[in-house]
Amino acid sequence: MIAVLKPNAAPEKEAELRQYMQSLGLTVQDIAGESTHMLGMAGDTSHLTPDMFARFDIVDHIVKVRESYKLANRRFHPDNTVIRCGNHVIGDGSLAVIAGPCSVESEEQILSIARDVARSGATFLRGGAFKPRSSPYAFQGMGMDGLELLKIARSKTGLPIVTELMDNSHLDAFEKYVDVIQIGARNMQNFSLLREVGRLKKPILLKRGLANTIDELLMAAEYLMAGGSFDIALCERGIRTFETATRNTLDLSAVPVLKAKTHLPVVVDPSHGTGHWELVEPMALAATAAGADGLIIEVHNTPHLALCDGAQSITPEVFHTLMDKLRRVHEAVNR
Ligand code: PEP
Ligand code: MN
Repeated sequence: MIAVLKPNAAPEKEAELRQYMQSLGLTVQDIAGESTHMLGMAGDTSHLTPDMFARFDIVDHIVKVRESYKLANRRFHPDNTVIRCGNHVIGDGSLAVIAGPCSVESEEQILSIARDVARSGATFLRGGAFKPRSSPYAFQGMGMDGLELLKIARSKTGLPIVTELMDNSHLDAFEKYVDVIQIGARNMQNFSLLREVGRLKKPILLKRGLANTIDELLMAAEYLMAGGSFDIALCERGIRTFETATRNTLDLSAVPVLKAKTHLPVVVDPSHGTGHWELVEPMALAATAAGADGLIIEVHNTPHLALCDGAQSITPEVFHTLMDKLRRVHEAVNR
């Protein structure tokens, strides 16, 4: 629900109104429009009616927000959210590129790939230390040792690190060492994990679940935001369909749909979205043309030897050429 205020509402009257909203157990969000000032109410608004605000004469009218996500809703926050990690940004109109291996495998591997992708213009380094593998017998990641290696790679390249958190027991380590916490597709609706991560107030990359709708993705973001984290990038990484030619079906229409529904930046993962390295370039270019704020791309120096997702990993050389094409597409569509 949104209270649209009359022009020049007295500050003490506005404070009174805010207090009333908070007394109803709601979070109040300022929404500055071009000529109007509005107060957005997030929380359980199902029992509210416009006449509950009739006694506040500074309220011009009340707008019901139909969608269940409020803080993530563009109506609550018309301007785009911009996520900053030092000089590295997602959502400011530039194209953020998060690149690196599926998993951290060794110091030489992560340093070599990190240096290569940094040289080609990547803006963040990815690498899984804790891996959500479908088989319990598959490589599960290097765990804490992997986090240590990511820290070394960050110190050598200056690239902020993006890595997946799977378990509440690692929250402290991630809070201390990780720049952007990735919540993977399989955990998008792990609500207890979302609540805990939300409390950290750190940047988060939230991936769309394998079989989740766009609205469910936005509700997952709402969990994080209700906990106090506002720097959230949403990631389209392909969904399950009947198609078997690709690992998943990359839903590129999610980009413009999300951009209309939410102020949060949108990142596309053409690696997990397709499962085949040859398809990464065309889908990365298409995602850029569709208006994505960023890409997350798996890059491996020896894909045929990768411990995880080698078939969808591109080499540093292919990544280098791709970066050049991405720049040109980004410039063309944003001209
Ligand atoms: C990943 O990015 O390494 C990953 C496991 O992605 P997803 O959660 O999208 O499968
Ligand atoms: Mn992977």
